[in-house]
Amino acid sequence: MKSLKEQLLQAGLKATPNPKAANERAKIKKKQVTEAVIHQEQRNFCEACQQVRPDVELYYHRNPTTEAEWICVKCADQLKIGDACRQTAQSDTSIKKMFRREHGVTRPASEFAAVQRSDRPKGPVNGNR
Ligand SMILES: [Zn+2]
Repeated sequence: MKSLKEQLLQAGLKATPNPKAANERAKIKKKQVTEAVIHQEQRNFCEACQQVRPDVELYYHRNPTTEAEWICVKCADQLKIGDACRQTAQSDTSIKKMFRREHGVTRPASEFAAVQRSDRPKGPVNGNR
């Protein structure tokens, strides 16, 4: 035996649409930024000359002529930023132990050994700063 609903539908009566359904929208899945996106681990973009370079390192310097901090060797030499200001040894050139400054003394790679893997940023990283 058919239910009353089925009988009515068969007779040509249409079910009234759910008034709430008209207001519902398909849910858009947002990307999980914090989990899905792998943060950039190696930086090779020089903020001073705006070029991709294999010898970009982080410098905390007091040179007033530039706000750049991720700087390639060529720019660091031109800006006369000492290697004492260098914070990282993460570039390809450093990894290959070819990193060498023209301006002043180059710090030995051993000084950066502890910073290499343990000093990863914990929060979200803004690559554009
Ligand atoms: Zn540069």
